[in-house]
Amino acid sequence: MKDICSDKREDGSPQEWAIAAKGVSKTYAASKKAPAKEALKGIDLFVPRGSIFGLLGPNGAGKSTFINILAGMVTKSSGEVCIWGFDIDKNPRQARAAIGVVPQELSTDVFFTPKESLEIQAGLYGVPKAERRSMEILQALGLEDKADAYVRQLSGGMKRRLLVAKAMVHNPPILILDEPTAGVDIELRKQLWEHVVDLNRRGVTIILTTHYLEEAEELCDHIAIINHGDVVTSRPKSELLGSLDMKTLMVVPDNPLDAVPDLSPFSAELKEDGRLYVTYKPSESRVGDILARINEAGIRVKDLSTVEADLEDIFLQMTYGADRIAQERAAQEKVTTAKV
Ligand code: ADP
Ligand code: MG
Repeated sequence: MKDICSDKREDGSPQEWAIAAKGVSKTYAASKKAPAKEALKGIDLFVPRGSIFGLLGPNGAGKSTFINILAGMVTKSSGEVCIWGFDIDKNPRQARAAIGVVPQELSTDVFFTPKESLEIQAGLYGVPKAERRSMEILQALGLEDKADAYVRQLSGGMKRRLLVAKAMVHNPPILILDEPTAGVDIELRKQLWEHVVDLNRRGVTIILTTHYLEEAEELCDHIAIINHGDVVTSRPKSELLGSLDMKTLMVVPDNPLDAVPDLSPFSAELKEDGRLYVTYKPSESRVGDILARINEAGIRVKDLSTVEADLEDIFLQMTYGADRIAQERAAQEKVTTAKV
């Protein structure tokens, strides 16, 4: 029988996805406190092998639900998922063995040392003693000198790294991190990322959810954005960053302006530091046209530069921006219906 794991490329060779998901949906049943919730609405997602794949989305978008389905902690309502060639319904054990998951919730057992923790975890995964690599993993995560310390003596950042280490005991080809740096300070985040990038260099496919967009922009080579349980985009980062038709012209006026000038049809924004920002669509307007309007407004330009849209601009446009447009459209329809 044909299933998602046996999908072939056009040339007949097998697909080489780390994870392939098709039509995955999840509706949480209603409880006394809350009505039923459709957290995922039939999403398709394909994660290339060897990538650092960023799964982004506002709070409540469905990121953790998707990851927990992969991890076997949440049962999907429908759809198909293939992990490293194994269908999660037909070969759940092999599929699960192919991923290591660092969950969103911080939980560490305080009674063991990091080394003991890893040994116990390896035991749970049935890794034979001869194949365990506890010290090697601790080393890869910069915890070798804490191998025999009590976990409660570890800093918050070290505890996070220990969770990553635990997720790696069975040597999975895929490591999944769900909001691994929420509430972690900048220095510790950097350290954690260095280790994650290092694992990726050693061939591990990384999937991470984060709401630190700068981090995602720097680290990931593929970005997917989900909003209200739907995938709104999933593309290589470079492609995504080039896709937004938006740039900003930054102008430093010769003399301070006391009001926002009228540059119509362009709209300008005056910052507190006296700089003038004009956002425009490169496909429609040229910098020269904007400068002509600035000149007509009697403003003399001391300095200028243009700024490309970044991941945050794209994220905001595809999530909250899209929500606002949908709301406005709905309101508009209401007005029209009322008139009829
Ligand atoms: P994210 O990780 O993107 O913030 P989640 O996947 O945690 O989003 O949640 C998606 C939606 O599903 C939210 O509306 C959330 O309240 C709901 N949800 C998550 N887990 C459960 C659950 N166990 N029972 C009921 N609703 C849930
Ligand atoms: Mg989450």
